[in-house]
Amino acid sequence: MISDPEALKNNLPRVFIKTFGCQMNKLDTELSISSLVKKGYSFAEDENDADVILLNTCSVRDKAEHKVYSQLGSLRDQKEKNPALILGVLGCMAQNEGDRIFKRMPHVDLVCGTRMFSRLPELLGEISGNNRQILAIDEDGEVNFDRLVTQRQNQHNAFVSIMRGCDNYCSYCIVPYVRGREFSRSVTDIVDEVKKLADDGCKEITLLGQNVNSYGKGLKGKVTLASLLRELDPIDGIERVRFVTSHPKDMTKEIIESVGELSTVCEYLHMPVQSGSDKILKKMRRQYSSAHYKGLVDMAKSMVPGIKIASDFIVGFPGETEEDFEDTVRLFHDVRFQNSFIFKYSPRTGTAATELIDSVDEEIKKRRNHILLDLQKKISTEENRKMHGKFVEVMVEGGSKTNAGRLSGRTRQNQIVVFNLPEGTKQADVSASLSGKLVNIEIEDSTDLTLFGVLRDSPFNKMTH
Ligand code: SF4
Repeated sequence: MISDPEALKNNLPRVFIKTFGCQMNKLDTELSISSLVKKGYSFAEDENDADVILLNTCSVRDKAEHKVYSQLGSLRDQKEKNPALILGVLGCMAQNEGDRIFKRMPHVDLVCGTRMFSRLPELLGEISGNNRQILAIDEDGEVNFDRLVTQRQNQHNAFVSIMRGCDNYCSYCIVPYVRGREFSRSVTDIVDEVKKLADDGCKEITLLGQNVNSYGKGLKGKVTLASLLRELDPIDGIERVRFVTSHPKDMTKEIIESVGELSTVCEYLHMPVQSGSDKILKKMRRQYSSAHYKGLVDMAKSMVPGIKIASDFIVGFPGETEEDFEDTVRLFHDVRFQNSFIFKYSPRTGTAATELIDSVDEEIKKRRNHILLDLQKKISTEENRKMHGKFVEVMVEGGSKTNAGRLSGRTRQNQIVVFNLPEGTKQADVSASLSGKLVNIEIEDSTDLTLFGVLRDSPFNKMTH
């Protein structure tokens, strides 16, 4: 948990925030912390030491919401013993469930939606000592992106929100209902934030948005993700730029070109296809065909040497036959994804797909899920083996958790690399000095998920020569 020593001097309640879900939620937690630190709040490492417990929630599956309800249930005792404790639900589930949370969990004090994070200090102030519940879920409210760049978990990497919301309404997805309409931040705001992050020691940024490929919609002039990448590329101190998530329908040649041409932009696309069957893609309302997707991948591979593609898949979507699933398997073989996130379909209350009959048997969903997981494992293992004997540029993240003589980091293609240190060197001696640095690693071994190698050239090696 992030804390600010200055804030500890103030006598305000101590806050504990637990984050569920995606990177966007983690960033929203940083925005919340920023707004609270500015007003002098401090933070507890443990929920038992906190005066305010906030759960920043995910709504993407019914199951994610059940998990939060169960956590709120188990906090009831704590609240009964200490009635001054403030309990709040933030984010997607707050937006989606609204005052239903108060009805099911009357001991909750605050329900604060996805656009209201910057008002947290004021909302907590209103609750404190007044024994009242507050529901703050403005659907049209402007999002305040103002952030203290020092309030982040990792010194060398940072997420930067470039847009929020989504206008796509894929039939299985709750996001447009809880995050609202698409809204792009101005280029000036983003560039300013990235410059501040670079001044604070950040080397790698990941641009975040539900659909970053449509960045710029609604802004004046011809602003696109590609033009934004060109603005960010020359910023001193930033070595790597990534962006997630890419929607295939909005991917352009111009974006792919910028990945190939700009030295900071990493050769990695997370571009979820979801299914290889055109019939299922149509039911999912994805607005592209399997052939279009394949064409984008071919273009990316021919224009950007060494690019890796990652995807998400849903198996067992309503109406998915064995032939539809075979189309997905075929696409898997054609593209040879670096990694994939594979989910079994489950209806999400409030989405259009709940009107379709959930026709695929649970056992069949499980079988298809396993087939894709096994296939991904096989492809990743084979692709990683091809790396043996090659040199890769790795940005060091820190010590390996499982071995005190090793460090770990990531390649530009987002592969995890664990590497040995020169003989006689201890992890503790070099971890801090190499963290955030680019080093040259020779790959010697691998599994499906990790590359293993040895340090061949680094600022550390140069120091010892
Ligand atoms: S593009 Fe589709 S899946 Fe992605 S957030 Fe928008 S509606 Fe959801």
